[in-house]
Amino acid sequence: MGFFTQLIIAVSLGIKRNWHIFLGLIAGIAVGMYFPSQDFPVIHKILSFIGQAFIGIIQMVVIPLVISAIIVGIASIGDNKQLAKFGKKMILYYGIISIAAVIIGAALALTMQPGDGAAKFIDSNSAATMQSIVQETMENQQSHLMNVFLNIIPKNPFKSLANGEMIPIIIFMMVFAIALTRVGEINRPIVSFFESVFAATMKVTDWIMYLAAPGVFALTASAVSNFGLDMFGGVWKYLLAVCIGLALQLFVVYPIMLKIFSKVPVGKLYASITEAVMVAFGTASSSATLPLTITCCERRGISNKVCSFVLPLGATLSMDGTALVQTIAVIFITQVYGIDVSLLMVLQIALLAIIASSTCAGISGAGLITIALVLNSLGLTPEQLVSGFAFLFALDRFIDMLRTVVNVTSDVVVAAIIADNENELNYDLMNNDELNKDIV
Ligand code: ASP
Repeated sequence: MGFFTQLIIAVSLGIKRNWHIFLGLIAGIAVGMYFPSQDFPVIHKILSFIGQAFIGIIQMVVIPLVISAIIVGIASIGDNKQLAKFGKKMILYYGIISIAAVIIGAALALTMQPGDGAAKFIDSNSAATMQSIVQETMENQQSHLMNVFLNIIPKNPFKSLANGEMIPIIIFMMVFAIALTRVGEINRPIVSFFESVFAATMKVTDWIMYLAAPGVFALTASAVSNFGLDMFGGVWKYLLAVCIGLALQLFVVYPIMLKIFSKVPVGKLYASITEAVMVAFGTASSSATLPLTITCCERRGISNKVCSFVLPLGATLSMDGTALVQTIAVIFITQVYGIDVSLLMVLQIALLAIIASSTCAGISGAGLITIALVLNSLGLTPEQLVSGFAFLFALDRFIDMLRTVVNVTSDVVVAAIIADNENELNYDLMNNDELNKDIV
């Protein structure tokens, strides 16, 4: 049987096990198409209320989960050498994945030329109403770029916790956890405390997953009802380029990585994360999906040590799907405005897309905000910037759902490879479908 047939069968089995979430997703698309938000504002409001409530409920566990996971992960890794090894491997694998993403993005945008003929559509966009949002975003991003390093220093870790600022939280927790491993036995009470917090938040995650089907339904329906399907017609080439790029990343780059660097069976890995993938699609947030990503990976035999270290960092710092989309989007805008892009400019766009995507939070729409950082570098006129940004804004939710699936899958792939390399993967669990009980 060919590789793709095996992959399709494995993913279908995963969907079959989680048929209720899948049903929620399909029903959400159908209901969203049938009840466009302009014609049915009340239905749209109810759906988006239910969806936001679901996201809020999952977000409730994200901060306790991230802080406890990092402490438990680093404490269980223990010695300096292994920690450095994990860190180096993460940089290597995420580096390869991100570079592949921007190369694919640039190659597709340059060969498919999605921007040709799209100018008419962009100019007729409601750019004027976006003026103030765009200006504010651009200014924020300019200061963001300058202050990027200042902002990630956790000056007041409690304030960062209260504000949900993931990068400073992660930095503080890592330093604190490494310090704990240096103070000897006295660290036991704190480590045990966080082990209990971790176990309890995972339990709460199991309970929250009972709400996954209605949550995914409401989120998908409210997003689709907002799209206005006619919007897609004028820019189908751009959407196609994005979809092909993300599919290549999912079905070619990751399987090749898994094959070269590990012996993890890609079909089994993908089949085991279907719930996480569907929730990622519905919520468009890697952070909100994190509790479920950890549950799926641990259930499939990736050790708690690897999951609790790699997944929270990956969900916050590495967004290859976002980098890919940003590269296509920015080259698309240059084509729309007839700007010649030299190879040097493409390299600059690709590099900035990697930086911009990794500074973006794992929440819905974050990649659109940080794209301003890349757009700013193009030398567009203010009017062009506004129209270009307004255009990307209009399409963003749908593309966000897709790129978040890729962002979450890459975290799982990197965690699985590192677990394989470090003997932290239980292949009995990975290969035994019977042992993979459903969460719900
Ligand atoms: N929504 C994406 C994520 O959470 C980030 C983005 O907007 O690109 O992974």
